[in-house]
Amino acid sequence: MNATVFILLGSNQSQPLLQLQFALESIDNSIAAIVNASSIYKTAAWGNTHQAAFFNQVIEVKTQLKPMELLDKLLLLESQMGRIRQNKWEPRIIDLDILFFNQLISNQPRLQLPHPFLQDRMFTLVPLNEIAPKWIHPKLGLTINDLMHLCTDPLKVEKI
Ligand code: ADP
Ligand code: MG
Repeated sequence: MNATVFILLGSNQSQPLLQLQFALESIDNSIAAIVNASSIYKTAAWGNTHQAAFFNQVIEVKTQLKPMELLDKLLLLESQMGRIRQNKWEPRIIDLDILFFNQLISNQPRLQLPHPFLQDRMFTLVPLNEIAPKWIHPKLGLTINDLMHLCTDPLKVEKI
């Protein structure tokens, strides 16, 4: 049985648009089939305004992988692409976050589902709303479109 999964791609370092394209192609070729992709959006850096703007995109994939197997493959791709984890909010070549895995709820620190901050961040909600406005958040019981209208994140998210 194929699961429906939404993944947020983010980059603000080393030619972010190329990094997003490389990550998207790598996921499609060797991790999970992409069935839908949002536009790319540009946002001022969240949490640390002294760094370069972020570029974000949400993709929908179908996969037979288990949630942890998918997470491990995404984290491996991040490190293959040269990501080094240091501080929170540092510039990053690529960040791959699982937003939803079907309607699954997981509270393990290694894999929290749905992604715990998605309802707080316009840079996640705006691209997600482009491809899945009616998707229901299993914990909050609201659609993505509802969450986007309720979100008070002031950062401007600009379609490029
Ligand atoms: P963040 O994405 O919060 O800025 P990182 O990308 O450095 O931070 O991720 C840190 C850890 O978050 C990862 O090693 C991973 O195990 C964990 N994690 C928990 N839930 C998720 C999720 N839904 N998607 C991706 N990583 C997650
Ligand atoms: Mg991450």
